[in-house]
Amino acid sequence: MAGAWIDQFADAPDVLKKTPDEITVIRAGGVAIGGGEFVTMAGPCSVESEHPLMETAERVAAAGARILRGGAFKPRSSPYAFQGLGLEGLKLLAQARARTGLAVVTEVMAAADAPMVAEYADILQIGSRSMENYALLEAAAKTGRPILLKRGMVATVADLLRSAQCIVSHGNPNVMLCERGIRTFETSTRNTFDVAAIVVLKEISKLPVIADPSHAAGRRSLVPALARSAVAAGADGMIVEVHPDPQRAWSDGEQSLTFAEFGTMMADLAPWCELRAGCNYALEAVS
Ligand code: PEP
Ligand code: MN
Repeated sequence: MAGAWIDQFADAPDVLKKTPDEITVIRAGGVAIGGGEFVTMAGPCSVESEHPLMETAERVAAAGARILRGGAFKPRSSPYAFQGLGLEGLKLLAQARARTGLAVVTEVMAAADAPMVAEYADILQIGSRSMENYALLEAAAKTGRPILLKRGMVATVADLLRSAQCIVSHGNPNVMLCERGIRTFETSTRNTFDVAAIVVLKEISKLPVIADPSHAAGRRSLVPALARSAVAAGADGMIVEVHPDPQRAWSDGEQSLTFAEFGTMMADLAPWCELRAGCNYALEAVS
């Protein structure tokens, strides 16, 4: 049918479902993502120092997280703000993995750093500000590590899928799509959580979909409810910021959960995750 709605995704053929139940299950550090279990990635916005990171890793693992997050390279609004610990941060993440068994996801910001980040991380995160940095996408793809691709702040679903296609075209089929909120006229939240995008992505794409309630919300009080809505929308997992002392966090403290808040959220989410097991996404509506 000419001009069909689905045509806007025509530049991303390899990430679209060919049959209604086609899915991609991604294995990273012993965790299967997209295979039915709702997978939680948790940790600080930035890797700060050894003791808080080890403590955070232990606490989030005990509460049910499977993957440790933490930026060693940080995209910041100001070039004079903390830019991350770099290699030292990567080594701390690897140390936390050895201690807890959690897999590690961390951001890569420069194409030249991709091989080094891939040496330490199980999953490479491409940040929102980098979604259209195609040289970076190529370098990250070529490491062979699974990629967590965050939606750009002003990117449409089609834009996100085109960037995912770029990674797949460079020989890496293991891409997770991350909805982290977009820029709109709304100012009561840091970004506008586009929960419908999660539903659309699950409907048309075979790739796992991960929600980021922390960057969408901008305030910790909103995070548990956004996480619930992500589960209900059918996301395959979430990435959440947790810090031992959010007031003192070097970045994104306002949206970071305490250990207690994270534990409560995870316990409260369990029945929602069970309900989600019954969801399925038919492509029948797409023609
Ligand atoms: C982050 O995960 O800390 C981050 C900077 O996210 P985003 O790229 O979505 O802003
Ligand atoms: Mn952050």
